[in-house]
Amino acid sequence: MQLGDPSLVEARPGEAYLKDGRIEFKRYPGEILRRMSRVNACPLQPRNFEVFRQAVNEVCSIYTDEYFFGGVDEPLQWYNGSRWGCCELCCDHDPVQLMADWVNKCSDHIRKTHRRIHMYQTTIILKEHQGEEPGYPGGPQIPMYEIIDQLPKDRVALVNWSYGVWRRKKDEPDSSNLNRYLASKGYRQIIQNVGYTDASFAICDFTKWAGQRGADFIGATVANYGSQTLEDMARRFKFLDYVVAAEELWSARTPEASALDMASHLVNGLELVREIVQDTKLPSRRARPTDCFTVDIRVHANRSTTDEKPFDGRGWLDLGPGLDLRALPRRPTELCGQLFQLIDPNANGGRSCVMIENAQRGNRSLPSEVKGIAIDKRAASLVFLHAVTGSIEASATQPAFVYRIGYADGAGAEFAVHYRIEAMEWLDQSAVGPGDMRIGWFLYGARPAWLGTTASGQRVIIYAAEWVNPHPGKVIRTIDMVLPDDSSAPGAALFAISGVAAI
Ligand SMILES: [Zn+2]
Repeated sequence: MQLGDPSLVEARPGEAYLKDGRIEFKRYPGEILRRMSRVNACPLQPRNFEVFRQAVNEVCSIYTDEYFFGGVDEPLQWYNGSRWGCCELCCDHDPVQLMADWVNKCSDHIRKTHRRIHMYQTTIILKEHQGEEPGYPGGPQIPMYEIIDQLPKDRVALVNWSYGVWRRKKDEPDSSNLNRYLASKGYRQIIQNVGYTDASFAICDFTKWAGQRGADFIGATVANYGSQTLEDMARRFKFLDYVVAAEELWSARTPEASALDMASHLVNGLELVREIVQDTKLPSRRARPTDCFTVDIRVHANRSTTDEKPFDGRGWLDLGPGLDLRALPRRPTELCGQLFQLIDPNANGGRSCVMIENAQRGNRSLPSEVKGIAIDKRAASLVFLHAVTGSIEASATQPAFVYRIGYADGAGAEFAVHYRIEAMEWLDQSAVGPGDMRIGWFLYGARPAWLGTTASGQRVIIYAAEWVNPHPGKVIRTIDMVLPDDSSAPGAALFAISGVAAI
């Protein structure tokens, strides 16, 4: 569509006009024209279809995905300025048939590029997308759900525009029953990501994941507004939305025994998504017990995980026995499938963790880095059991702390630990989700390894973050744990390191 040509847009006769190079609508009596953010191309105007055809060909020459995203969720938002079936070409047509014909015409062309089209189910289901909105009298009541029986199910997928399944607000639609309705009509649903700018992810093949689950591939759209990097999405728990949305569809009839069982199921799904998104394998997921090793960090430990007396300058965060980590195991213990050599402070001179503190912080008694933790092994990965010792701005993007890996040949690597991605604060402050699950259990880059409480009853989560070694053939000599000057973390604690030997 040529921008600024009112004759190509869907509008009632005489309604659209040009102003400063933009198409505007005249206001009709009784109408509230709000943002005017939607101007539709007329579906019966042949010049518009030609532009669509060229755009499809151009996009399909670049992207290789199985699906072509057709959208079509906005033509019915009359309150935003959209119009449907009312221009001089369209006004004598049934608006539902007009939509079905348009989608079919588009999917016919898209089929020539060996793709399917997908469109939003909200076009069909949501009342707000059918022109209806409280206080807005001008919208037509079009029974668009009737289109369901007129689309080719082998060529059109309907995706659910759910607003983050996990954090759905009260006034947002519950998509699960709508998903099941569409599935009952024979539609194949897919997971689709909206608003993410990294093309390598946008076309990433989620069917691999479905294959691993041994299930039909159906899922839901997860809307991520704006331009978000992978890190942004991880920090905002967006990947969890995919897992929850898919789980809702794939395993809806398979209730888990408890919230913890369900949570570990979701953690597993999240790791599979991470492996696909990052095109990597987490060695710990495939290692045999004999492939794993533990690292002795006793000599580097500089703080106790317990604190007998508050404000005496010693012990954990020096807040006393009600608010320390005395419940954390103090002997070699398997957590989340990995053996960790946790230290008993009483057998190690009152020291059971490596703690670093922010150099900008007043009254600190600990260094901002601890150097030279000996590894002396070839490793496929290292798994760090750690925590940030206080909360940080959720929006902080710089690493909370880093591990600097030193290879025997003098080369180095870095594992940057980001707050809300590879680590969280030790006290769990996170929101409660369905089944009393905590959103804090589901970090993108770390698994919850130990859940416990302090003596005063506050919830604690300690995470295990796995660093995949880019050079498994090299001997790792040492690791430094460093809190950079620009970190906003007050401090960090390391309880144990284990690893998977390079094969
Ligand atoms: Zn028209």
